[in-house]
Amino acid sequence: MAGIRIINLVKKFGEVTAVDHINLDIKDGEFMTLLGPSGCGKTTTLRMIAGLEVPTDGEIYIGDKLVSSPSKGIFIPPEQRNIGMVFQNYAVWPHMTVFDNVAYPLKIRKLPKDEIEKKVMRVLEMVRLKGFENRYPHQLSGGQQQRVALARALVMEPEVMLLDEPLSNLDAKLREEMRFEIKDLQRKIGITIVYVTHDQAEAMAMSDRIAVMEKGRIHQIGSPWEIYKRPADAFVAGFIGLANFLKFDKAKIEENHAEVTLFGGKVKITCAPPLKKKGELILVVRPSEIDILKNPEPNTVEGIVKRATFLGDIVDYLVQVEGQEIRVQSKPTEIFNTGSKVYLKINHATLVNL
Ligand code: ATP
Repeated sequence: MAGIRIINLVKKFGEVTAVDHINLDIKDGEFMTLLGPSGCGKTTTLRMIAGLEVPTDGEIYIGDKLVSSPSKGIFIPPEQRNIGMVFQNYAVWPHMTVFDNVAYPLKIRKLPKDEIEKKVMRVLEMVRLKGFENRYPHQLSGGQQQRVALARALVMEPEVMLLDEPLSNLDAKLREEMRFEIKDLQRKIGITIVYVTHDQAEAMAMSDRIAVMEKGRIHQIGSPWEIYKRPADAFVAGFIGLANFLKFDKAKIEENHAEVTLFGGKVKITCAPPLKKKGELILVVRPSEIDILKNPEPNTVEGIVKRATFLGDIVDYLVQVEGQEIRVQSKPTEIFNTGSKVYLKINHATLVNL
């Protein structure tokens, strides 16, 4: 197994800078997800790790081996990088059985027949496809076909697996199941995975750490919890989960905490200091981090319900408070109708850079 180190990686396609000086240290056995909107450079980064794309600048190490460095004239081709890859269109060969699909990479390397058989059966068991070896892809579900693609990548016993939106062709339920399967498999075999997705729930469910990307740059790298609870900036806060961006009166920032005053001094919040020291700040409050109350309490602010949507396990409110609209999601213990006067209590907030 191996970690991956990416140093100041750049990829330009003519005028377009697809990847703009990114740095990433992926530990051995880690599940790292590159998450971001379409066109942010995720796939290009993955393809450079694989060796399918030649970087414009920067260095990539797989384990201790420098596999790519334009300035040093180094470029190790994909087949020498010991990497397994699975893509969105899982590309299993329709005319081959499951066994032959998985055996294919071993056959072209001319491994002895009994060794191929042993390796294929072991990996089919790993992805829970034992008993399916004589079926053809059209006799399998989408999830099973995707597992064939995983098995075919794993059979080479790669040090690193690269997965590019591997679940996006599956329906919602299967996608959720496969998330757990891939995560389980990774835990079992302890392989390093770099996973590309634009789906934040998928990233949150599987990753040890997430790198949130936009326009070729990384905004933040952290565990799902860190990225959700302490987003580095407004882009990350808005991309991961729902967020209110609130203007505040003033913020007193100390070493370990910050005191923020809102709504003409009616509400005071103590929160963590911003992760970045410089620049304009805004207060991020998740809709689930606000209580909606019938009666005033200390440190609450009055508002009027503009919209109330009952969603079963939660009620989603839009509340007008002194010129700002605030989204609140609460348990439906008491439902406030449109037009009701309510009081909001902010339980947790984060100061972030704009
Ligand atoms: P998606 O989720 O839509 O796949 P992505 O984050 O993976 O997006 P990339 O595919 O890495 O994004 O693309 C990053 C940028 O580089 C985009 O602006 C894209 O148009 C551009 N790009 C990618 N490949 C090429 C290419 N071969 N030639 C020119 N431009 C490219």
